Amino acid sequence: MKAVVTGGAGFIGSHLCDHLVAQGHEVVVLDDLSTGSMENLTQLEGTPGFTFVQGDILDRDLVRNLVEEADTVFHLAAAVGVYNIVDNPLKSLRINLQGTENVVEAAVANRVPYMVASTSEVYGKNDADGLKEDDDRIYGSPIKSRWSYAAAKGLDELVAYVHGVESGVPCVITRFFNVVGPRQTGQYGMVVPRFVDQALRGAPITVYGTGAQRRCFGSVFDVIPGLLRLMETPEAYNQAVNLGGHEEVSIKGLADRVVELTGSTSEIVYIDYEQAYGDGYEDMQRRYPDTSLAHRLIGYRPTRNLNDIIN
Ligand code: NAD
Repeated sequence: MKAVVTGGAGFIGSHLCDHLVAQGHEVVVLDDLSTGSMENLTQLEGTPGFTFVQGDILDRDLVRNLVEEADTVFHLAAAVGVYNIVDNPLKSLRINLQGTENVVEAAVANRVPYMVASTSEVYGKNDADGLKEDDDRIYGSPIKSRWSYAAAKGLDELVAYVHGVESGVPCVITRFFNVVGPRQTGQYGMVVPRFVDQALRGAPITVYGTGAQRRCFGSVFDVIPGLLRLMETPEAYNQAVNLGGHEEVSIKGLADRVVELTGSTSEIVYIDYEQAYGDGYEDMQRRYPDTSLAHRLIGYRPTRNLNDIIN
């Protein structure tokens, strides 16, 4: 099988490439190296059947040419990271909307099965009693560009789904929940690598907000086999499937755990959201995936706990 992996030089994409190559597949990576890095792929350089193409998913002809030759497409390229999205709102939107459309259209035109990476953020933060025009939880609000990521990913799901249903080409949509593991960088605010980096440097560990907000981190080593199995499971086609971990922890608890496991002398300091993200930013208090659909479809059961992930 020949697989095209967009975003293959990124964190999740490079682990996916490792798995595909280990299974004996040919792999073509399309990545513009905006947040990804060739360092994530050094282990694959020179491997027969592995090709890297530096390019943009907004380049429709390039996408079409690569997909035409493929047996399957994994679409992971996206503008990611809160700071990146806020600093480059228009570019991010284009990449996350038009880029996905290019990949999905090429896949469907060539009847190539495709996977589109979505996010837990599509669930939004809709726990408000009264909905106000300036609500920070609005996806598409012109003044809340941070949520353009969630809005675009929601539309990506729709594009993937509608094309999948209309064409009959196998389509898998994965909603990743806080996936972590080796090669993830804290560059754009991802909390686990940021805390680990701060701990190893003996720098203050910066918790945003009170630290009471809870998250559930999923290991990339659980998520990758999960998404590969979904691609082989016709019952999974044309629906969005949560993939993540099961061990829930508060962000303060995560900071404590990182200090303990690294033997760091770092102190934990608290920074309010305004200072970290600006303009009345509010975070969701809890994000926990229900992975029962993935369990039903493919027997998905995360095997790595938080200590494994941090180590
Ligand atoms: P990442 O930044 O490591 O990977 C994204 C890759 O896409 C990078 O290599 C980047 O260079 C590439 N890219 C960006 N714009 C591009 C463009 N225009 N053309 C070609 N390549 C481009 O991030 P990741 O964490 O590995 O995320 C992979 C996918 O999973 C993304 O679609 C992301 O939205 C999704 N996701 C990740 C998480 C997570 O917890 N890591 C959670 C939810 C969803």
